[in-house]
Amino acid sequence: MTESLPTTRAVGVIGAGTMGAGIAQVAAAAGHPVVLFDTASGAVERGIGQTAAGLDKLVARGRMQAGDRDALLERIRPADNIEQLAGCALVIEAVVEKLEIKQDLFRALEDICRDDTILATNTSSLSVTAIGAALSRPGRLVGMHFFNPAPIMKLVEVVSGLDTDAGVAARVFDTATAWGKHAVHARSTPGFIVNRVARPFYGEALRLLEERAADIAVLDRVMRDAGGFRMGPFELMDLIGIDVNYAVSCSVYDAFYQDPRFVPSLEQKQRVDAGRLGRKSGHGFYDYDGQADTARATPAPPADAPPSVAAGDLPDFAAPLLERIAASGIAVDRDDDAMGIIRVPGAVLAVTDGRTATRRAVEDVHDDLVLVDLCLDYGAATSVAVAASMNAGPAALRAITGLLQAAGLAAYPVSDTPGLVVMRLVSMLANEACEAVLAGVCDAAGVDTAMKSGVNYPRGPLAWADAVGADTVLTVLNHLQQGYGSDRYRPSLLLQQHVYAGRRFHE
Ligand code: NAD
Repeated sequence: MTESLPTTRAVGVIGAGTMGAGIAQVAAAAGHPVVLFDTASGAVERGIGQTAAGLDKLVARGRMQAGDRDALLERIRPADNIEQLAGCALVIEAVVEKLEIKQDLFRALEDICRDDTILATNTSSLSVTAIGAALSRPGRLVGMHFFNPAPIMKLVEVVSGLDTDAGVAARVFDTATAWGKHAVHARSTPGFIVNRVARPFYGEALRLLEERAADIAVLDRVMRDAGGFRMGPFELMDLIGIDVNYAVSCSVYDAFYQDPRFVPSLEQKQRVDAGRLGRKSGHGFYDYDGQADTARATPAPPADAPPSVAAGDLPDFAAPLLERIAASGIAVDRDDDAMGIIRVPGAVLAVTDGRTATRRAVEDVHDDLVLVDLCLDYGAATSVAVAASMNAGPAALRAITGLLQAAGLAAYPVSDTPGLVVMRLVSMLANEACEAVLAGVCDAAGVDTAMKSGVNYPRGPLAWADAVGADTVLTVLNHLQQGYGSDRYRPSLLLQQHVYAGRRFHE
């Protein structure tokens, strides 16, 4: 059994920038003496100053006692030279993202620190294996990947390189847990867990933009209001920095030998070329004059509600939509010939299965078909994307939007694109999560914890696959692959296996 490091043992942090200062705060908050070192003059003082300012705000808001703030800050000791880290039980580096610099640093630490000192890197994109290759004892090097801001974000990816000692990874896992973090084991592969599995969140949204499927404000709106994500993809890219997000996309794409799953987007590159980098430059996908102008998303105009509908059962995950319609006072007549659909006068509603409405209208012989998108919770969502078949007239779209509006859902028309918006992004997230698990990067519990704690997803991608059914995700991906004729959408073998076996990802 491994255990966390005792809080009497000192933790060294190298690099006092954005991440290092935050990591020093986390370790000190847990009770460790912390030794903070940076080569740039004044950087340690600036880092500690920023930490102090953040803690002052907590004290002012009554969320921290002044005495606790003082004690925490007293535990962080600036170091004038790297030799002062000699007595640390764990040294975490958060210096510039350059392989040679990190290797030089760890080689120096091998000479300075005791043999049982754990060496950890906060790298987000370099291989832990490659960093460790420079060491005489790579077994004691492990990735300890915090997320920004480190004191707030719960996730720590504990990344093992090829030579990382399992006991070292376990010790760091337990230590991060003792520090109040959600630790997840990951194998050192490009993007680790979060920066890999999150790629479709941006990549598919950018594809939808490339196709002009909808305005970015509409795409963001439905991802938030229907998908339950805290931010839509475009406002999030603007916050992260479009250049930073693009660089990660390119590095993951190259690291996976140009796998079509990760192809970067010209829409993104153009903005980088134009210097439209997001919030930090005042322009990105949105123009900034305060907040991202997501309010400009315009839903379908008010339309009349039908007095009654005829319906069979919707897919289980969408059943609350029918309950919601019934609760709005619209009579729902049971129709066993309408399995999976809702008939209103002049239109048919179905939940997307990844086929376009135009294709499905022909294959399933429905005139005037309008598809609705996936919702995290059909009972509580406030918006949903809809797409009409090319052969459906405007009256069909009005009939469906009137129905949805009566049930309290604003309808956002998007073009007739396979899988619409939320279903498409969530299916691709689940597929990438399967690929990560299949490749032994992490387990099913780990990928879901990582995406919830690292990027605040409302539900883990594999829990989402369980909620809608792995068979639904597989069907959507097969249809996306047929629609685009691209390997980008090939369903993961792990997903297929779960469908054949009738197994859930979380029992
Ligand atoms: P930063 O530029 O804010 O800080 C880096 C600090 O390291 C600077 O103060 C610099 O003076 C110092 N430094 C550089 N070389 C050094 C050396 N040889 N010895 C000692 N100090 C040195 O950078 P950051 O955003 O805090 O990122 C640091 C690391 O954390 C990188 O590896 C980055 O990939 C990773 N990371 C960053 C984020 C993020 O969102 N910023 C998130 C997770 C991981």
